[in-house]
Parts: sequence; structure tokens; C-alpha cells
Amino acid sequence: MQLTMPGPTAKELDLLSQVSTMLTSFDRDRVLKNVIDFLMRSFDVEQASLLMLSGVGEADGWQLFSLRPRFQTAILRMPMSEEALQQAHRIVNDGLARWVIQQKQGTIIEDTHTDARWLEIPDIPSGVRSVLCVPFVLDDQVIGVFTLQHPEAAHFSELDLQIMTIVANQVSVAMRNAELFTQMQAQQKQLEEVLRAMPDVLFVLDADGKLLMINESGVELLGGRDEFALLGKNVRDLQKDDSALSLVVEIIDSPLQSGQRWSFEAHSDQHKRDFVVNVSVWEQEPGGKAGYVIVMRDITQMRDLNRFKDEMLQMASHDLRSPLALIVGYCSLMQMDVDPDSKIAEYLGIVQQQTERMTGLLDDLLRVEKIRTSPLELYERVDFQDVVNSALNSIRASVDAKQQRLSADLRLDHAPTILLSPPLIREAMANLLSNAVKYTPEKGRIKVTAYMADQRVYFVVEDTGIGIPPENLPRLFTSFYRVRQPGSEDVEGRGLGLSLVKTIVERHTGEVWAESTMGVGSRFGFWLPL
Ligand code: ADP
Repeated sequence: MQLTMPGPTAKELDLLSQVSTMLTSFDRDRVLKNVIDFLMRSFDVEQASLLMLSGVGEADGWQLFSLRPRFQTAILRMPMSEEALQQAHRIVNDGLARWVIQQKQGTIIEDTHTDARWLEIPDIPSGVRSVLCVPFVLDDQVIGVFTLQHPEAAHFSELDLQIMTIVANQVSVAMRNAELFTQMQAQQKQLEEVLRAMPDVLFVLDADGKLLMINESGVELLGGRDEFALLGKNVRDLQKDDSALSLVVEIIDSPLQSGQRWSFEAHSDQHKRDFVVNVSVWEQEPGGKAGYVIVMRDITQMRDLNRFKDEMLQMASHDLRSPLALIVGYCSLMQMDVDPDSKIAEYLGIVQQQTERMTGLLDDLLRVEKIRTSPLELYERVDFQDVVNSALNSIRASVDAKQQRLSADLRLDHAPTILLSPPLIREAMANLLSNAVKYTPEKGRIKVTAYMADQRVYFVVEDTGIGIPPENLPRLFTSFYRVRQPGSEDVEGRGLGLSLVKTIVERHTGEVWAESTMGVGSRFGFWLPL
């Protein structure tokens, strides 16, 4: 026998359309309340119940709410009494809910007196004769069970069940959306709070340089105006408020390439502060919307401390030199009075050697300091190629001793003479070259390149040496910094060479850099303005 069922009438279609209007809200509890209230009225029901999993995935997290028309949304947030939790547990384990959860589908009970799936709970006088029960299913998991209850038998029809099933599916999706929305809002709030609390300056720009986002420190940097007055402004127009932004503008003026990053130091004339500026490119998807994220860290205090440290070092080294010279002198005197083959002579030799090493260290330190403050009058106009050649000559003996191959690619034919201090620049070059020799095994290759570009002259040394771990690269040019890694244990050094190179190059208003791949080799270079 084929069961024929009447199709939905205008009344039922109207119900579905009203429910879907209610589902557009993102407030989960309000959605539930409005829909349940509406359904109870539409199906002429005075009593309903809702079982909800308190957290999806929790096996025992079922909560039971008994609902009357126009209940308060607060009910859905109230902590459950022990008794209600036990009842929920019983219904889920033995009652109709168990059948609905297992079958993942809705059902009707025409008469509770004759249907074994209905469980009368003795403490609750229900007077329920017929029932319509539907699950809320998400990702193939039942997250809720909704039951409409009526005191008369056979109150619900098959069509009612169909309509309720459609509604339950819609409600499930709406609840998931509401939950995601709440989560997203919480995450956004968290992010906003993090950005607000961040002491670094943060700007997010679009590809054209327009300000999309700014944090409090950023607003302060740009004169403490209203955040909303700044949003949408172009960073090109904002650079007049802070000169540290001029290099950012240069970056934005060049073509945008995804994955690119820049890091540089900048000075703000207006605020008399120094910053490390990090610029990176953001992109929504390849070929999609893109722009820049700019983070500026104030390093003024660090720089002042560094200066203080240098001054202290200089003072200490001056004061240390004379006692050290005395120790060396007295060691020599004592050695004259002892048997040269005795243990004492040996110990004195060690004392003298180590004291001389300390003096050497102090000398280097003082040299760095001297270069930093050397008068610019020492500079002369010279042919850059001559300086490169003389540095190359100074290193040949050590290259030969390690049987390394040194090649030079000098593209300086039409280079104008440039203003520099020849001994200092030669020393900077020789330092980079001697590092390449020291940190490259025997028979390795060293390549020197010199060329001109963009009103600058470049000097680059590449080697096939042990390389430098990426985490050590940023501190390489700091005084006394040495990388401890296999392959460099026996290499002599004081960790001052690169700091000297940096000081010399910066004194010439140039810039140094280092790149390296572990086990492949390193590339050090600097440029000087023409
Ligand atoms: P050092 O006297 O120790 O060579 P530098 O200041 O010249 O001092 O260099 C600092 C550190 O940088 C070195 O100790 C070494 O670990 C690393 N380094 C410098 N140049 C190279 C290079 N070409 N290859 C590998 N590591 C290098």
C-alpha cells in the first residue's frame, strides 16, 4: 500500500519562511528561544523539552531544559542542577532521545501509553500522550534533541515531522554559524587587545600605501590624533609627521612582490628617536588583495645603553692597559732570575702570554672606538679598484696556505674616484677576506666581486665555508660575538673583526650585510656611496 501524504499548505510554507527569517541572527540563544517559542505556538503545544550537548564532543555533557511558552533565554545558560543532569542522562540512555540519537532522525509517538520508546520519569508528572521529536545534527553528530509534547494522543502528523526535520536542520546550521561568529568575534577582540597593548608601532597598509590598521603606539607616533582620522590616509602624506617613514615610502614606491621583507634602522627627527623598522608584504591569496605590514621597534634606549657601554669599555681599557704592561714587564724580569727549564719559568711564560692576549683585545677595542670618532679629514679621493687589489694582495699568503681558490670579478672600469679612508676600507675588506679564509675548509673557494650600481660601489666576498646558523646572523656585527659551532673550534679570533668592519663602513655612511646557508657558504658585503 502506498502512503499518500498531503503536500505543505500555505500555512506550513509560511512557518518555514518565518523560521528562516529568525535564523539570520548570530545570537545562538536568541535564535533557539525565538524558534522554539514560535514552533510551540504553531503546533499548539504547551510543553516542550530540549536536550543539548554542552560542548560538542563531550560524551556526558547532555543538559535538559523543560520549556514552556515564552521562556527566558537565560534558562539556556543556567547551570544545571544535579537532578536535571541525572534526568538528562536517563533520557539519553533509556528514553526516546536514545532512539533519536542512534537513528539520527526524527520520529512521532502517536500514544505514549503504547510506545515502548517513551520513558515515564516518575518524579515528573507529565501527562504527555503524543510526542514529536527531532535531532539537531551537525557533521553527522547529534548535538541536540528537541521534543514537542501534547496531552492528547495522535496530535502530530507525518507532515509535521517533515516540517520539523527541515527546521531542525536549519537550526543546526544557524547554531554552528552563530558559534563560529562568536568565536571569531572573541578572536578579533583578543587580537585588537594584543595590538593595543603592543609597545611596537604597527601599521597595516594596502598596496597603494593607504592605512588600513594602526595601533595606539602608531597613533602616538603620528601626533596622537584620532585613529579614525588617520585610517584611509596614505603613508606618503603621513611621512611629514615622522621622518622614520621615508624609507617605508621608498619601499612602497618600488613594485610589490609577495614574500618580500625588509629590515632597517630609521631615525625620527620629530621625536628624536631611533627605530628598527620591519616591513613585510601581506597577500590574501596569490594574485588577491595585498599590502604591507610595518612594525617599528623603538631602540633609542638600547642605543643609548650601547653608547654608555662603549664609553665604559673605553674607560676600562685605558685604565687596564698600564697594570697589564706592568705585569708583562715584571714577568720578564722574574724570568731572568729563574732557571729557564724550571716549572716557574713555564708558568711565568703562560702569565706573560695571556696578559699580552688581553692587551691585544684592549688594543682592538680602542681601535674600534678610534675609528668611530676618526676625523673625516683623513679621507681622500682614490681609485676603488686600487684599494680592492691591495686588500686582495694582503690575503694571498693565507689563501695559498689553505690551498684555497681565490677569484675576483672586478667591474670597476669606469668607476669615478671615491672619497674614503684607504687604510680603513682596506682593513674592512681584509677582515671580510680573512674571515672567508678562516671559516672555509682547505681547498674551498672564495670569490670577490666589486661593482657599481645606484650611485654606490659594492664589495662582496663569497665563500664555500661552514656557514652561519640563521639565528646567529643578526648579532654577527656585535663586538665580541662569536658563533660556536662545529668547524670553528680551532679558529682563532676575538669576535671584533666584523664589528670593526661595520664601524668603518658606517663611518663612510655605507652599509654592511651578511647572508649564509649552513654547510654551503656565506656572503658578506658592503656598499659605500659614490
Ligand atoms: P672572529 O675574530 O671570531 O672571526 P669576527 O667579528 O670577524 O670575529 O666574526 C664573528 C663571528 O662570525 C665569527 O666568530 C664566526 O663565527 C662568524 N663568521 C664571520 N665570518 C664568517 C664566514 N665567512 N663564515 C662563517 N662564519 C663566519
